[in-house]
Formats: sequence, C-alpha cells, structure tokens
Amino acid sequence: MSRVVVTGGAGFIGSHVCEALLARGDEVVCLDNLTDAGSAGNLERLEAMPRFTFVKGDIADAATDRDTIAGADAVVNCAAETHVDRSLLTPARFAHTDVFGAATLLEAALEARIGRFVQVSTDEVYGPLAAGEASEDVTPLRPTSPYAASKAGGELVALSFAHTYGLDVRVTRGCNAYGPWQHPEKLIPLMTVRALGGERLPVYGDGLQQREWCYVTDFARGVLTVLDRGERGKAFNIGTGERVPNADVVARILALTGRDAALVEHVIDRPGHDRRYAVDATRLRGLGWRPELDFERGLAETVAWYRAHEQWWRALLDASQEYFERMYARRAETLAPLRSV
Ligand code: NAD
Repeated sequence: MSRVVVTGGAGFIGSHVCEALLARGDEVVCLDNLTDAGSAGNLERLEAMPRFTFVKGDIADAATDRDTIAGADAVVNCAAETHVDRSLLTPARFAHTDVFGAATLLEAALEARIGRFVQVSTDEVYGPLAAGEASEDVTPLRPTSPYAASKAGGELVALSFAHTYGLDVRVTRGCNAYGPWQHPEKLIPLMTVRALGGERLPVYGDGLQQREWCYVTDFARGVLTVLDRGERGKAFNIGTGERVPNADVVARILALTGRDAALVEHVIDRPGHDRRYAVDATRLRGLGWRPELDFERGLAETVAWYRAHEQWWRALLDASQEYFERMYARRAETLAPLRSV
C-alpha cells in the first residue's frame, strides 16, 4: 500500500484517479482548493471510501504543499485551471496555477524526497496538427492557447526537476477525457445536458475541429500505469486513436438523446481554436495499457449517466450562470475585445 497525494482530486480526472488508487488499496490524500471546476459533489463519493483524506488548499502555497505531502510515497498533480475558454478570459490565473503552482509543488516534493511525481499534462501542448499526423511523446511542444502554454510551462518545469535534481518525475500527455463527473462547462457534458433539456447547442465555427477521445476510467488507468511503470524524465501520451470532429460528437449526442439536428446553432469560433489534435500512444501501450471502452459505448454510458445525475450537474450549471451569459448569450461582445486588431 502506498500513500499518494492527488492534487485536483475534487475535479473530473483527479476524482477518478483517487477512486482507482483507493480501489486497489492505496491511501489517498486529496489536495484541492475547490475552484469553480472542483466540486464538493465529487468529494462526497470519495469521502465515503476508506483511506481517503481531503485537504482544502492551493498548490501554489508552499506551506500547504509541505504539510500535505509529508510522508507520502508519490504525488500525482492533476490540479490545474483547465478550461480553454476560460483561459482566454483570465490567462494570468492559468499561468499562476499551472506553472507557478506546479513549480511550488515540485519544490515541496524535492524537499520531501518524494519517490515519484506524475505531472498530468495534455496533448494540447503539442499544438495543432495537420491531417494524418499524430504527436509522438518526443514531438516538440508548440502550444497555442493560454491554457496549453501554461500546461506546457508546468510540465517543462517538472521535467527540469528530473534532469537537474534527479527527482523521479514522469509526465502524462492525455487526449480529451470524457465520462461521468465532468463539469458541465466542457464540450460533451454541455452538449448532453442542453440536448436533454431541448436547448440550443452552440457549436463553435464549422464544428470540424477534431479531438481524440478517451473514457475517463481508461484515462485514470493510464495515469496509474505511468505512476507504477513509467520512467523518470519521460512523457507518455494517453490516446485511443479515436479522433472525432466536434460536429460529429454533437450529432451522436443528438441521436443518443433523441433530439433533432435543428437544435444545433453555429456560433462565433473560439479565437485561435486549434483544428486538430492526435496522439501516438505507442510508448504507454508498451507498458501494457489499453483503453477498454470505445467512443461509441463510452458516449452512450456518459449520456445515460448525465440523464441520471441532474441534481449534481444542475448545481454546477447554476453556479456558472454568469460565465454562460458571457460566453454564449453575449458571445460577440465578450470575444470582440480579445483581439488586438
Ligand atoms: P478539472 O477542472 O475538472 O479539475 C481540476 C481540479 O483542480 C479542480 O478540482 C480544481 O478545484 C483544482 N484546482 C485548480 N486550481 C487549483 C489550485 N491552485 N490548487 C489546488 N487545486 C486546484 O480538470 P480535469 O479535466 O479533471 O483535468 C485534470 C488534469 O488533467 C489537468 O491538469 C488537465 O490539464 C489535465 N488534462 C485534462 C484533460 C481533459 O480532457 N479533461 C485532458 C488531458 C489532460
């Protein structure tokens, strides 16, 4: 049994990582400051499990990090500002958590001589790819959004700790995760809950932006695989090869909810929206990892889950009302000042 600190454990992926660790008998300490994305609802299901402890705190606070990770065997850093759209509105906040916060946590991990540190990064750090290309774990990073740039900064600092100090840091670069307990601001939950309610579905631009999708429990197993069998100073892509244009994701959600395509409304695209991401996960597969749920089954399960958990997502939607007003009802007005020309 190991004692593992999971930061951001009240968020989407972090909560599934906590669950997977607890299920195999590890002790988990979750450090999370419960931003808009972190949900007390996610904690409820974890707090019902034995060997789980929650600490409310910010990874950018050195004393909190030191106290929380004392005596831990490993740290998995899932804490981050994660919503690309929000990163357009508050880029400095993203850099603060995703770069400075990660660096602060790494300093504490080094001081405590933590055995393993997994930095959970994203495929968005590679930037957009042309059709037919897939990023390998050694492809140079060319992030384009404030979110992706902050994540790239965080993971580069993490890898520098492996190189400079010998800290056992491993990085995961995951494709898009989806599944239960994801905040309803993100694409699949947003389209699902709006379709369930018969509301219009705001699709950015032509909807042909392509993303690779991984069901969240498969994603969490990928993180655990890297924690257990990864290698110091290396990055591991988590990917399934299932690459789907956003418009197709929305069409599938319409079919699963029995709604009509007339609900789709094409809205002004996200500024700087990357057209395509795709990863080559050969290195992770070499450690024995395989995704278990394909996109068709995973999406059906996800839609069924949101149908059955309205109380959970309704509370989060209500709390995000002002953001939704800005991003959707007043989209043109919100986006106009973001361009300098
Ligand atoms: P999320 O927004 O659901 O969860 C992030 C969690 O971090 C929240 O609980 C939030 O409260 C917490 N947090 C934010 N700032 C913090 C701080 N300063 N101190 C402590 N806690 C803080 O995001 P997610 O989708 O679960 O993403 C988790 C990680 O996985 C992130 O690092 C993200 O970049 C990465 N990732 C996500 C995806 C995806 O598709 N969701 C894909 C690849 C990588």
